[in-house]
Amino acid sequence: MKSFEELGLKECLLEAIKELGFETPMPVQEAVIPLLLEGNDDVVALAQTGTGKTAAYGLPLLQNIDVKDHATQALILCPTRELCLQIADDLNDYGKKMDGLFVLPVYGGSSIRNQIQNLKKGVQIIVATPGRLIDLMERGIIDLSSVKNVVMDEADEMLNMGFSEDIDLILASVPEERHILLFSATMPSEIEKISKQYMHDPKEIVIGRKNESTASVRHIRYMVNAKDKYNTLKRIVDYYPRIYGIIFCRTKVETQEISDKLIREGYNVDALHGDLSQAQRDYVMQRFRLRNIQLLVATDVAARGLDVEDLTHVINYTLPDETEIYTHRSGRTGRAGKTGISIAIVNMRETKKIRQIEQVIGKTFEEGVIPTGKEICSKQIFSLIDRIEKVDVNEDEIADILPSVYRKLDWLDKEDLIKRIVSMEFKRLIDYYQINEDFEAVKEREKGSKRVEVVKEEGFTKVFINIGKMDGVTPKNLLGIINDCVEGKAEIGRIDLFTRYSLFDVADASAQTVIRELNTLRLRGRNIKAYEATDEQISRGTKDREEERKGRDKKKKRK
Ligand code: AMP
Repeated sequence: MKSFEELGLKECLLEAIKELGFETPMPVQEAVIPLLLEGNDDVVALAQTGTGKTAAYGLPLLQNIDVKDHATQALILCPTRELCLQIADDLNDYGKKMDGLFVLPVYGGSSIRNQIQNLKKGVQIIVATPGRLIDLMERGIIDLSSVKNVVMDEADEMLNMGFSEDIDLILASVPEERHILLFSATMPSEIEKISKQYMHDPKEIVIGRKNESTASVRHIRYMVNAKDKYNTLKRIVDYYPRIYGIIFCRTKVETQEISDKLIREGYNVDALHGDLSQAQRDYVMQRFRLRNIQLLVATDVAARGLDVEDLTHVINYTLPDETEIYTHRSGRTGRAGKTGISIAIVNMRETKKIRQIEQVIGKTFEEGVIPTGKEICSKQIFSLIDRIEKVDVNEDEIADILPSVYRKLDWLDKEDLIKRIVSMEFKRLIDYYQINEDFEAVKEREKGSKRVEVVKEEGFTKVFINIGKMDGVTPKNLLGIINDCVEGKAEIGRIDLFTRYSLFDVADASAQTVIRELNTLRLRGRNIKAYEATDEQISRGTKDREEERKGRDKKKKRK
């Protein structure tokens, strides 16, 4: 391993990073810094967040800045305001011994007037979100004609957020002779496209395997029925008393719902999503950074740019649609040499997604066993006992108050005192787990075996329809009939066909349209009747399924 000195960094940068406590270069820095200092190549670096990539491009970028020249010499693009501020802060830290250095973050959602005033003073490095940069370019405030280096940080996130056209426009506005440095955690095809279109024979650097999540992350899945998801979440959170993590949900509504529920039940959590104002989001993030909040319930977009070290857990309450996003989520834990845990609470329907994720991360999920109430309570109690044992007692600080405390508790013996502390701390938990029965994770179906229980899946409406096998209905033609009810394709889940009726799942968003249109149709001279299935109809479906299975088993035996 080389030292920072050997990488060729100049003295004022070496001093600054030493003061920051950086002793040896991280792998991405060792690989990228010499390349950028030479300044001959475009670079594509595949590196997760938390690998030290800001310094990897930031240090050589700073080394190549002429502080006497007030023209903009480097441009850094990134997806969010938070990341923008963080990069600018980091660069200012690294460049704190460079007199005359001016780095400016420009991002949306904040006064453009102040940004314009600062830009007019002459800024050598602009750190920008694409939308705001375009706005400033269109106003003629930003001159990119002297830019020698363009960095795209978290390029995959920028594309995910729909900045593709803006990036095209920006890259077309910088001089031809510039170098482009692209950092991304994953390598979707759009990134390859950018690299082909705008970069000259880029050097590709891969820190870890392509599309592999951090090695120090354990991936655990808890397979449960949809109705048990929330209770599983609570059990996991209760089982890890020192948990500090993010619970990812897919929508703003779900994020708010889960967070509200947890708060009502006494958990130290808050929500972070796009419906909050910027000020509210800043406040929540600050409280989380300071660990005043133990768990953040967040959407992917809102959590972007929130750089928090030392997360013990990432919990996927719902899996993301794109596997790459899972890599991002789980990459938020297991940083800086620590082991992190990425948990997915999934139902049967999501098994396919789990397989896709496993392919991308190159690991198999461990099968999570839902902790029992007893296990949770004892884990919590021992965590408290451990804290009591390890607490630093500052005799001087409490000397005055102690005699009166002793006097007050004089009538209690040691055993009683301990019982009281435990009951006080864990009343909520003990009460809860006394009344709420333990439940188990569901087993994945063996290949070829049929699911017997008809369940209602999250995000889907179960529809009852009065046509079945005796009307000649097959899954394929039922799908056809349903899809004819909507423009494009409706998202259809499980289909259960019975002799006289059928049940099927349709995504909530299309459910009402599908039901309305089905009721206008006829099949073999009969009016079709469809409506949201009642609980009785769903359990009747399960019974009918069981009957069918028993019938099949009997037949097999007779053979
Ligand atoms: P980044 O991936 O740029 O967000 O960096 C992750 C964290 O690692 C940040 O807190 C940096 O300050 C820190 N860091 C970067 N380089 C080093 C280094 N060589 N030694 C120790 N910490 C570092």
